[in-house]
Amino acid sequence: MSADIVDTARGGGRVVSFTFDDGPNPIDTLRLLTVLRRHRIAAVFFLCGEQVEAHPEVVRRIVADGHRLGNHSMHHDDMTTWSPERIEADLRETNEAIRRAVPQARIRYFRAPYGAWGSSPEVAAALGMQPLGWRLAVGDWEPPGTDELVRRLRDGVTPGAVVLLHDGGGDRSQSVDAVDRAVPALRARRWRFALPAC
Ligand SMILES: [Zn+2]
Repeated sequence: MSADIVDTARGGGRVVSFTFDDGPNPIDTLRLLTVLRRHRIAAVFFLCGEQVEAHPEVVRRIVADGHRLGNHSMHHDDMTTWSPERIEADLRETNEAIRRAVPQARIRYFRAPYGAWGSSPEVAAALGMQPLGWRLAVGDWEPPGTDELVRRLRDGVTPGAVVLLHDGGGDRSQSVDAVDRAVPALRARRWRFALPAC
């Protein structure tokens, strides 16, 4: 476990990892799980503790489908100026919320809200979570239309990129639809989908 922020997918060549932040979010997360199952892709879900407490059953569905979990803090706060002690308390509270939903959950990763890392990589690593960044963000927090999201995914991927997408924080139906359309388009160009490198 290292405090270095990892942003690479496992394997060489045309491989990418999809990650989904800010859920669980009942309608869009459940639709996304159906899409990922149909395309046989495993992803990482960065969960917000307050969302977990509101929708624990969706976390159980994520785990049952074989995806990996990440800690994305309790309330999606910017931690840039927080002390390590305050960050640790928040990350522990988030993990406890996840484990109330899924008692045996393995929480492998941490991602700071807004990528505002501050002291959080060291804290996360000490708690056994790998800080995971990204190389491609498609701006789906301001939904630009599904066609545009598909274009940004198709044209934006680079070999080994971790890709940041969102299943929570608002209406993410465009993100779900874009994944459903981009995956076959990328596979046709010989891209593969894998979990992160660590
Ligand atoms: Zn976020």
